[in-house]
Amino acid sequence: VPHPPVDSVTVAELRQICGADFVLTDRDGMQPFAHDFTEDLLYFPEVVVRPRTTAEVQAIMRLAYEREIPVTPRGGGTGLSGGALPVRGGILLSVDRMTSIISIDTENMMGVVEPGVITQVYQEAVEAQGLFYPPDPASRGSCTLGGNVAECAGGPRAAKYGVTRDWIYALDVVMPDGRLIRTGSQCLKDVTGYNLTQLFVGSEGTLGVVTQITTRLMTLPPFRQTLLVAFPTMESALAVVVEIFRRGYQPSACEFMERDAIAVAVERKGQDVPHADAEAQLLIEVDGFDADLVETQLFTIGELAMEHGAIEVTVAQEPGKQKQLWDIRRAVGEAVKSISIYKEEDAVVPRKHIVSLMRGVAAITREHGIHAICYGHAGDGNIHINILKKEMTDEEWNDRLPGAINRIFELTCSLGGRISGEHGIGFTQRPYLPIALSGDELAVMKQIKQALDPKGLLNPDKIFLS
Ligand SMILES: Cc1cc2nc3c(=O)[nH]c(=O)nc-3n(C[C@H](O)[C@H](O)[C@H](O)COP(=O)(O)OP(=O)(O)OC[C@H]3O[C@@H](n4cnc5c(N)ncnc54)[C@H](O)[C@@H]3O)c2cc1C
Repeated sequence: VPHPPVDSVTVAELRQICGADFVLTDRDGMQPFAHDFTEDLLYFPEVVVRPRTTAEVQAIMRLAYEREIPVTPRGGGTGLSGGALPVRGGILLSVDRMTSIISIDTENMMGVVEPGVITQVYQEAVEAQGLFYPPDPASRGSCTLGGNVAECAGGPRAAKYGVTRDWIYALDVVMPDGRLIRTGSQCLKDVTGYNLTQLFVGSEGTLGVVTQITTRLMTLPPFRQTLLVAFPTMESALAVVVEIFRRGYQPSACEFMERDAIAVAVERKGQDVPHADAEAQLLIEVDGFDADLVETQLFTIGELAMEHGAIEVTVAQEPGKQKQLWDIRRAVGEAVKSISIYKEEDAVVPRKHIVSLMRGVAAITREHGIHAICYGHAGDGNIHINILKKEMTDEEWNDRLPGAINRIFELTCSLGGRISGEHGIGFTQRPYLPIALSGDELAVMKQIKQALDPKGLLNPDKIFLS
């Protein structure tokens, strides 16, 4: 249903709310807000607003509700499922000016932040006080905590510390009609009514605009060591992943990269790694509070890998060497995406089934004549499958892609998996949602959306059609 256009009266009122400098309507000014990291998609809003306070967000939402104008929230714009794309035009609400770290409580071990705080900035601020906020999406230098909450972001350390959800205790949320609610508390236990906090975590900006976030923190583990292990086959690498956890080791990261992923990252960084031509590599990190225990665990994992046929184990004990290995891992995402137009899938399966998923993906991509590069968070059973357009014509791409993705997701679900582990459904994964969810499950989700956003104005057409 078309919505009323954002007219000059509405723009003037938005300027009254946020200040004229923070309301953009010119195409050049809005260009950076018209895309995220999802493929080559570009959707211009009618107006961009950059509020500074929760009260301003409330006023914007009240106005939009009254005029029935869609609003799309946006954090750092690093999303990979098109969640921040203003696909219906309307108002793009960027929280990029809401960047205060309000408090870091070293006694109760909680931090309170505004949603536009960059994840890495927060991590470094708490680390300066001897504390630790573990969720670490590879995009942490440019994504925001608000975006992390909305997507329930993961990252390498989820293998030991869980995902964003596990660290969020309270939220301030502006509802689609402009009401402000405060969910949760700074208590470690809380069964005071429904857990609204966790309803908003992972809701992809479709239920409310998050304007304040309370996270749990822990003491920063002082010891950390890293291993890069090269394997002759993908199967041997993934067998080691299962065995590491089965034996009770708790690596703080267990990342998988296939040969092509390593190759593009090495090229991008201009920095080599041992056995870059091996079929698969695992980047494993162990952290903790006891230097000897960390070292013992690391060496035992290294031995385990050698028993499973690893080619070589490279140990990085010094921070500089560790950073070099992590730089390669963190470069993979952007390096792969710079090759050509791409479509990234974010399948997650029970850890023991990653091998079946990877074998299946190889067979499906071969049959459909497409090339995919795989890497990801093997410790969580979460593999990113980047399908590359390369020299394919538009017609071939549009023809082959949907069938291949359907088959990949059918396989994922048949293995007990889900179609997104951490990137969300957003705009681009919406057609595939019925593969993973039953009709009743989808209907209950739509009822929740309807109850909280009766006019369907907040981030419309994300997750499902509004
Ligand atoms: C190179 C690269 C590597 C990545 N690695 C990882 C990874 O390891 N793990 C991982 O989980 N993800 C990863 N991502 C994906 C992405 O960084 C995450 O999904 C991140 O959480 C998005 O945050 P953002 O601030 O950029 O959000 P945006 O892209 O701006 O928005 C994402 C969604 O959040 C909503 N939103 C944003 N702010 C708010 C708010 N204040 N209130 C309500 N809704 C809001 C938007 O409407 C949208 O639906 C990666 C992306 C890239 C490009």
